[in-house]
Amino acid sequence: MKLILSTSNPNKIKEISSIINDIEWIPKDLKVEEDGKTFEENAVKKAKTAYELYGPAVADDSGLEIYALDNFPGVHSARFMEGADYFTKNSKILEMMKDIPIEKRGSRFVCVAVYYDGTPHIFKGVVEGSIAFSIRGNGGFGYDPIFIPEGFDKTFGEMPSSQKDMISHRSKAFRKLYEFLRGIKYE
Ligand code: IMP
Repeated sequence: MKLILSTSNPNKIKEISSIINDIEWIPKDLKVEEDGKTFEENAVKKAKTAYELYGPAVADDSGLEIYALDNFPGVHSARFMEGADYFTKNSKILEMMKDIPIEKRGSRFVCVAVYYDGTPHIFKGVVEGSIAFSIRGNGGFGYDPIFIPEGFDKTFGEMPSSQKDMISHRSKAFRKLYEFLRGIKYE
């Protein structure tokens, strides 16, 4: 099975391809303005834009929510300090949180995956965790080196990608989407 995936992020393409490896993902970089107030709004907009050009398509929107910072950066995760590298962005977040004690460093990654076939089918994945006190690990991408998933003592940046893929927000959302697609296929 082949499916259009509306994204410009090579890290996401890599993760999604290894989470669901029996779909041949065809990435399309559609430069959709992500001006929604929620992950759902942005993901639907990206998937609908791709659908209008190519037919049934998938898109996701994702980000990091830090509770002590009022869910910042949230839907602005990709655009926070736009142009800066993630070492700089992660350093800035750690600086903003330098006086926040361990028990108040709760955070979560959210991913909303959408399959659009004329109507949106929406699947959400969340991984709870906390923000580390330093940048740790070179794996993954984005905010991975400062995020420690609940039940672990390593950041996503310190884990092999196979371990991140077992528990991540993206894998939870995309496994739900995959189950839905299998349902359609075998109906
Ligand atoms: P978008 O979903 O392409 O709009 O952007 C999501 C942004 O959220 C990424 O550019 C990262 O900054 C952040 N993000 C989302 N998922 C992850 C992840 O799995 N690891 C690290 N950062 C992530």
